[in-house]
Amino acid sequence: MPDFELLRKTSAGPFETVNEALGARAGKREPALSFEFFPPRNQEEAADQLWRTFDALMEVSPDFVSVTYGAGGSNRETSLAIVERMAKEIMTIGHLTCVGGSRASTAETISRFEDAGVHSILALRGDAPKDSPRALVDGELKSALELVHLVRQTSNLEVGVAAFPEVHPESPHMQHDSMVLEMKQSAGASYAMTQLFFTVEAYTDLVASAKMAGATLPIIPGLMPVGNAAKVVRMAEMSGATIPVELLGKLENASEAEARVIGMDYSIKLARDLIDAGAPGLHIFSMNFSKAALEVARGAGLCR
Ligand SMILES: Cc1cc2nc3c(=O)[nH]c(=O)nc-3n(C[C@H](O)[C@H](O)[C@H](O)COP(=O)(O)OP(=O)(O)OC[C@H]3O[C@@H](n4cnc5c(N)ncnc54)[C@H](O)[C@@H]3O)c2cc1C
Repeated sequence: MPDFELLRKTSAGPFETVNEALGARAGKREPALSFEFFPPRNQEEAADQLWRTFDALMEVSPDFVSVTYGAGGSNRETSLAIVERMAKEIMTIGHLTCVGGSRASTAETISRFEDAGVHSILALRGDAPKDSPRALVDGELKSALELVHLVRQTSNLEVGVAAFPEVHPESPHMQHDSMVLEMKQSAGASYAMTQLFFTVEAYTDLVASAKMAGATLPIIPGLMPVGNAAKVVRMAEMSGATIPVELLGKLENASEAEARVIGMDYSIKLARDLIDAGAPGLHIFSMNFSKAALEVARGAGLCR
C-alpha cells in the first residue's frame, strides 16, 4: 500500500488517494464522481477550452480527476504541466503508458509525476504509436503489469489499472483479462478503471468475471456521454466498444439535435443503472467539454 502519511503532506482536495475517496463515499452509501481530461495539442484555444472545462467541472465537487498520456510519451511535458496545475486543486491521477519505454526512462517519468503532486498513477501499457510500430516489440517494458511493479518499486504512489468490459482487443476472452487483472492486483494495483462501454451488463459481467479470478479491487466504470453521436460512434469503433443496435438505429435516424437528446437520455440512464448495480463511482470522459459531462453527473444525482 502507498505510504499515506507521506502523501498527506502534499495533497490538495479532501482525498489523498482514489481508494480513500471510494472508501469515504462508500461509507456514505454514495458513489464517487470523477472526470477525465486529455492534454490538448499546443494550440492556445484548445488549452483555454481545457481549463474552462476544468473550472466548470470543479464547481460540482468531483472527488478526483485524471489526465491521459500519449503512448510513447509524445505529450509527456504537456501532461506533466497539466497534472501539476490540477493537483494543486484536487487529487489528480496521472495516466502513464510504458509502451516503447525503458525501465530507467519510465522510472524518471514516475518520479516527475510524484514531484508534480500526483498521488495516483493509472498504469497502462498503451498501444504502439503509428510512427513507431515496433514499440511493443522493441521497448523494454512489455505490459502494464511490469509498469505496476515499477511504480510500486520506485515510488509511494497509489496504482490503478485499466479494465475492459468488452474484453481487450488482443485478449482471447474475458477470463484471460480477469486473470491479468488479478496479477496486477497482486502486484499492487488497488483500483481499476474501465474502457468505455454502453450496457450495464457489460460492466456487471466484467465485475463478476474479475471476482471469480480473485480480482476484488474496486472497478470504476468509465462513462462516455453520448452528446455528439458521430464523435462517440468513432470513439467506440476505435476502442472496440459495441453500441447497442437499437441505440445506433435511433441515432442514425435522428437529426443532430434529436440524436443529442436520445444519446444523453441513454447516457444518464446507463449512469443510474451502473450506480444501482453497485458501481463504486463514475469516471466521466469529459473530452475537455463540460456540458455533456455535467448533464450526466447531474442526471445521475452525483453533483454535490
Ligand atoms: C481507463 C483507461 C484509460 C486509458 N488511458 C490511456 C492513456 O492515457 N494513454 C494511452 O495511450 N492509452 C490509454 N488507454 C488505452 C490502453 O493503453 C490500451 O487499451 C492498451 O491496448 C492496453 O493497455 P493495458 O494497460 O490494459 O495493457 P496490458 O495490461 O499490458 O494488456 C494488453 C494485453 O496483453 C494481455 N496481457 C497483459 N499482461 C499479460 C500477461 N502477464 N500474461 C498474458 N497476457 C497479458 C492483456 O490481456 C491484454 O490483452 C486507456 C485505457 C483505459 C481502459
